[in-house]
Amino acid sequence: MNQSNIRNFSIIAHIDHGKSTLADRIMEMTNTITERESKAQLLDDMQVEQNHGVTVKSRTVRNRYRDDNGQDYEFNFIDTPGHVDFNYEVAKSLAASDGVILLVDATQGIQAQTVANYRLAVEAGLKIMPVINKVDSPNAQIEMTTQQLLELDASFDAESILQISAKTGQGVHAVLEAIVNSLPAPNGDINKPLKALVFDSEYDSFKGVIASVRIIDGQVKADQELLLMANSAAFTNKEVGIFTPAKAATKQLAAGDVGYIVTGIKDPHLVRIGDTITNQNTPTDEPLPGYEPAQPMVYAGIYPQGDYNEMKDALNKLALNDSSLQLVPEVSDALGPGFRGGFLGIFHLQIIRERLKDEFGIEVLTTAPNVTYRVHLKNQPNVLTVDNPIQFPDFEQIEMVEEPMVKAIITTNDAELSAVMKLADQHKGIFVDMGNQGSLVELTYQMPLSEIAYDFFNKLKSVSHGYASLSTTLDGYKLADVVRVDVQINYARVDALTFVTHRTDAPEQTKQLVHKLKYTIPRRLYPMPAQAVVEGRVIARVDIPPLRKNAAVNGNQYSVSKKQALLRRQSINKRQAVKSDVELPQSVFNSILDLN
Ligand code: GDP
Ligand code: MG
Repeated sequence: MNQSNIRNFSIIAHIDHGKSTLADRIMEMTNTITERESKAQLLDDMQVEQNHGVTVKSRTVRNRYRDDNGQDYEFNFIDTPGHVDFNYEVAKSLAASDGVILLVDATQGIQAQTVANYRLAVEAGLKIMPVINKVDSPNAQIEMTTQQLLELDASFDAESILQISAKTGQGVHAVLEAIVNSLPAPNGDINKPLKALVFDSEYDSFKGVIASVRIIDGQVKADQELLLMANSAAFTNKEVGIFTPAKAATKQLAAGDVGYIVTGIKDPHLVRIGDTITNQNTPTDEPLPGYEPAQPMVYAGIYPQGDYNEMKDALNKLALNDSSLQLVPEVSDALGPGFRGGFLGIFHLQIIRERLKDEFGIEVLTTAPNVTYRVHLKNQPNVLTVDNPIQFPDFEQIEMVEEPMVKAIITTNDAELSAVMKLADQHKGIFVDMGNQGSLVELTYQMPLSEIAYDFFNKLKSVSHGYASLSTTLDGYKLADVVRVDVQINYARVDALTFVTHRTDAPEQTKQLVHKLKYTIPRRLYPMPAQAVVEGRVIARVDIPPLRKNAAVNGNQYSVSKKQALLRRQSINKRQAVKSDVELPQSVFNSILDLN
């Protein structure tokens, strides 16, 4: 199709503002899918997405639209995730788009992720089309939302802000017309050498890596000699095609098109998101700028509940379709071989656990998550980067430690302001700025990532009765007074339970922890002390009670020989206390995660 009849756009919004619903409605109204199919929320097809009601992975769909003048258009839209953890997916989608629909829920108005995604779109130089959604709701505040949009961007014009109900379809036809009339067409050169942006990838065990691409210049057919520029990886592509949303092979993709290229490459590391694909013989002179690889925010150990090899297989397969999941093998004394996973956030970690279960039937243990520390050792010039608490050096060797910081923007309303500020304070937030975003207050804090990465978002929702929202960006490293906490059960250190925390929080946290361990560590026939050790000193301790009364005093229940055997076993157990062999169910690790 002629480029002037193509529109490539993304829908961006705060979570739950209606992106997926609008996407469904557009597909339905362009006859891309039937109404019945849309009931099944075609885009959010992963089990986890349906469980949580959120989009986790971006998806692309091509739609055909005949406008009111009888002209045919090709719409490629990319549905994007709205959760803070998945900003990286949003950035990838934007790189392949020429414009965005900025969707705002009229019952909530502009929220933190609305602003964060708006800024991403501005940075990407995209044309932005504001749309107010959920106008059918009795709680819709259309006037207020319009006002907020005008304050967000002075170039928006009140008259042209569309008001729709993605649910009922009201006003959606006007959106389709506005996509034609106010979003730009791509303007690549079809006669130049191929220049295609890889904005996503997935792995197929038969076809190898399938790259999602936006063709910037030139054209591509099947069976051509192509080149991935970042790794100088040459390949002959097996197929090209489009997303309908299912993959459908086509003869060719040309400048302006969005689709996929079957690379046939079996090593997924060769296909980097953000890379440029070109022709081997007539390469483009300049690759696209690409973008920064996803950076993990939190790390956690992943260990099998069953067979290690099965878990390893499943994890590797999952990582192929989730380029932001990082995996490095590691071994724990307590849990045996496993992996250190790097995640975009706690929600991402939760999603990975659930996908392993849903898609592979595999249950894993995940240890308490932690952030990366930069440890400066005494009399040593180089800095140690520690993403595993077990590798956190002994305190005698440490000169100083730096921890990662984030800039946190919290949006809330007046009524909840003081509760929100108190919470930020409790989480070591350093107040930076306060401003207004329409009727909302926008607070800016600098906070340690470790304070915000785990449960902060849920607490924020709870203290603000659901009103406050959060958006974060990494903001360098800062000196921190942190300590390593070792946990000993029956006098043996359990390495998988080691964690790092701020010194001032250690006494209260360890008190809570040993108390929880009392109820989560599976009991033995004899009592076991559980203790937390910081810098060589026990700072909290509790006795995990025995399973039942001691055999020696347990009346007539056992025959004499059984009693003797039991006593023998008990005393063996008491002696071999150097290397811990306690069982560690997931609840034990959750007791560290739940500390505050
Ligand atoms: P997303 O997170 O932005 O993809 O949001 P969803 O499309 O999943 O929608 C979130 C919730 O809002 C769902 O329960 C939808 O049914 C509801 N919703 C979406 N659009 C509308 C609308 O126009 N009116 C009303 N009343 N509800 C809507
Ligand atoms: Mg969605």
